[in-house]
Amino acid sequence: MHILVTGGAGFIGSHVVKLLVNDGYKVTILDNLVSSDKKSIDPKAKLIIGDIVDSKKSQQALREIDAVIHMAGLIIVPESVKDPIKYLKNNVIGTVSFLESMRKANVTKIIFSSSACVYGTPEHLPIEEDAPIHPDNPYGASKASIETYLQTYNAVFGFDSIVLRYFNPYGPGENHQPETHAIPNFIEATLKKRPIPLYWKGEQIRDFIYIEDLAQAHIDVLNLKGHQIFNVGTETGVKVKDVIDEIFKIVGYKVPVDDLGRRPGDVAANYASSKKLAKAVGWRAKIDLNQGLRRTIDYYKSLKHQIMGDLQKGKITHLKQFHQ
Ligand code: NAD
Repeated sequence: MHILVTGGAGFIGSHVVKLLVNDGYKVTILDNLVSSDKKSIDPKAKLIIGDIVDSKKSQQALREIDAVIHMAGLIIVPESVKDPIKYLKNNVIGTVSFLESMRKANVTKIIFSSSACVYGTPEHLPIEEDAPIHPDNPYGASKASIETYLQTYNAVFGFDSIVLRYFNPYGPGENHQPETHAIPNFIEATLKKRPIPLYWKGEQIRDFIYIEDLAQAHIDVLNLKGHQIFNVGTETGVKVKDVIDEIFKIVGYKVPVDDLGRRPGDVAANYASSKKLAKAVGWRAKIDLNQGLRRTIDYYKSLKHQIMGDLQKGKITHLKQFHQ
């Protein structure tokens, strides 16, 4: 089976690509590298550098493809609040343009990276897939709107469109610029022995899903049909301040916490019911928070060593270059 992964150079995409390649799938990536680079791409995958809105590039990437895992998109929530049109253009118009390229290429199976953001503030916990959709920010609105298009492409053009609503992914390889996610910021501050930036005194409840468990879900749903929506989470709500304590336990020391007060727009609590996905394909999260954090901390430690080594060898002359 030949899979096209859009956004396959990104944090989650590169893990999905690795897993696909290891499982013997042929993999092509379509990515414009706007928020990633080639470094994390598995060498066995073929990279086509291009934008999903570009029908020529998309047609080229879609040649002999059996299914698409569609992860390309902009993901920074505060940026989407400042510039909703950017998110409308890149995520929604980009995706609908890409769906049209798929239609022309006769590729009608798509797995889509959606987000728990579509639920906004939930009425009940754990959140089930039939909970009302009311995104609290333009990023979430872009995801909800793409989901609606996928339902339409299923109804009108017979697409198989599987929507995966991720909760809070974390793990090795996460280097968004800027990084707005809690775990990488907490670990980075701890390793640099700087104060941890913390909103709401860490009282928010989240469902942190380890990257390899999340990546596996994409492979497990590859043979599903129709239009189906699944939450992908651990079904466990954890207080953000408890994550910090776990990090401190693992590294064996503490750093101060920088109390940043309340951040408007944050949801107080969310965690998933993933029973639907378990029932459909037997998927379950296997890596618990302690194991996942250990692996993630090891990654950031190795990154630090790699940067120091590259600086010494003159491969990079400034830390900024490492992140470019
Ligand atoms: P990422 O920024 O690391 O990866 C996204 C990739 O998409 C990047 O490689 C970027 O270059 C590419 N891209 C963006 N716009 C593009 C375009 N128009 N054409 C081609 N390529 C384009 O983000 P990630 O964390 O790996 O997220 C992957 C997907 O999962 C995204 O769709 C995101 O919305 C979704 N998601 C992420 C999270 C999270 O916490 N990371 C949570 C829920 C959903």
